[in-house]
Amino acid sequence: MNNNSERHASAMAALTLSKVTRDYRQGKETVHALRTTDLEIHNGELVGILGPSGSGKSTLLTVMGGLRTPTTGTVEIGGEPFSALPEKKRAQLRRQYLGFVLQNSGLVPFLTLADQFALHDRVLKRAPTTEHRDELLDTLGISDRVRAYPSQMSGGEKQRAAIAVAVYHDPTVILADEPTAALDSHRAHDVAQLLAQQTHEQGKATVMVTHDERILPVCDRVMVMRDGVLSDEKRSESP
Ligand code: ADP
Ligand code: MG
Repeated sequence: MNNNSERHASAMAALTLSKVTRDYRQGKETVHALRTTDLEIHNGELVGILGPSGSGKSTLLTVMGGLRTPTTGTVEIGGEPFSALPEKKRAQLRRQYLGFVLQNSGLVPFLTLADQFALHDRVLKRAPTTEHRDELLDTLGISDRVRAYPSQMSGGEKQRAAIAVAVYHDPTVILADEPTAALDSHRAHDVAQLLAQQTHEQGKATVMVTHDERILPVCDRVMVMRDGVLSDEKRSESP
């Protein structure tokens, strides 16, 4: 019995979407941004999601992370029926389990980079680990920006700062929206490597939305989004 429940726990997905859809109202029109989606993501798995602009990638990511509610269907995080919870409880679980790297970086505009890290420690009631912070900043090449405000950073620096803060937070699930969009090849590679390393060594479940084909080799699974439909990548078999 005990054994069985342990096996069950280890097989349980970190993130499960069951028949999830998301519509938007645009005036009198309804946009079906996300069509019926079933998806399981496990700890230790880095999933890349490719797709053209407007195909529904950000919608998928924000629904996964509970920043938007699905129109139909359910999202479970660590077995918790996340999407059905009231916003207050959802926000609490988000803080506990989720690390976001959003397209608009998600940094708090009026805090220095150092204070963004400190904020996480306060919210999570943990002791600060400056060593871990500095290691992340060093890996991403932004050690010299630790006293800077987001407005004083370049697009690429903000992006890397957001990733460092998200990883520092030590979430179970990392959701990254175009994390390498503003980066040159060298930096894009560092970011992808850091996410892959966190995923594999720390057993995180990571979803990375991208149209940057350079970073696909680090992904364990690549999926494609087209017109709100998510499917496994079909490798071309033509000669
Ligand atoms: P992607 O991230 O792949 O570019 P999005 O998820 O941002 O795609 O958008 C998917 C579709 O949903 C697009 O047609 C977009 O215009 C529409 N959409 C996105 N956000 C909203 C919104 N807040 N209100 C209305 N329509 C939206
Ligand atoms: Mg997007």
